Amino acid sequence: LITGKILKKIESLTPLAPLHQPHNLEAIKIIQSLYPKLPQIACFDTAFHCTQNKLATLYAIPRRLTQEGIIRYGFHGISYEYIASVLPKYIKNKANKKVIVAHLGNGSSMCAMKNRLSVATSMGFTALEGLMMGTRCGTIDPGIILYLLQEKNFSKEKISDLLYQESGLLGVSGISSDMRELQSSIHPNAIEALDLFCYRAARELSALCADLQGCDVIIFTAGIGENSAIIRKKICDKLKWLGILLDKKSNNNNEIIISQNKSKVLVAVIPTNEEYKIAQHTVYKALRYS
Ligand code: AMP
Repeated sequence: LITGKILKKIESLTPLAPLHQPHNLEAIKIIQSLYPKLPQIACFDTAFHCTQNKLATLYAIPRRLTQEGIIRYGFHGISYEYIASVLPKYIKNKANKKVIVAHLGNGSSMCAMKNRLSVATSMGFTALEGLMMGTRCGTIDPGIILYLLQEKNFSKEKISDLLYQESGLLGVSGISSDMRELQSSIHPNAIEALDLFCYRAARELSALCADLQGCDVIIFTAGIGENSAIIRKKICDKLKWLGILLDKKSNNNNEIIISQNKSKVLVAVIPTNEEYKIAQHTVYKALRYS
């Protein structure tokens, strides 16, 4: 439940999610001024990851900074929570096995789950770490930032714009951050951007296999994951070593199960629904406070 104190606390966390937080806070404030008596509830995209083992949350930085809260929080938690809640409906007895969910949209991340709880995730302290995204770079060598600061005199604003707004699919292609546009382009830079997106996704997924000590199920979700048969195929082709056999027809038709029966890993497409999860939490909280 959002109180004045909680709003201030959330505001202090804006540097962790500069792309998302300011406009969300703005909406809360506008509603507050229009309907001062209306209770508002905030759902956090990090909460789902609180079941992770401590090691999965640590950076190899001085302990005092870790104690200040510089740890890997992970994001897209509301999407993962929704997927975890519907897994039994879609994949029945495989729901509690070693599942990796690939949330591929404008923002992209992956989550390794066991018993439908988060074990590890690709995003970290901010929503920058991990996969290459629409305009975000994902994981890069932190030395690049030092180089830009020290040798190229980049300001912190310029660095922030570079990492959040000018990189990813947009930066590599120089054409667009939109996957549909890039898929329909024959420009070599667009093709390379797609290749890099898939290469990085397959590497990240492989790392999450180590967290789970295997992988029984891969779920694709969000705008790209749900709709792009080409991207799913390119990623799965790089993961053939896991024993994945994709079914061409069901993949092309965006069906739910897109792997062959004899595939060692079940591959499925499940639409996410973050709004539903938020509404569910809101109703639950509202009933508690009424
Ligand atoms: P999201 O952030 O989940 O809304 O996902 C947005 C991304 O999904 C954008 O890069 C879109 O281009 C991509 N997307 C949506 N529909 C399709 C589609 N039919 N084929 C490929 N990419 C798509």
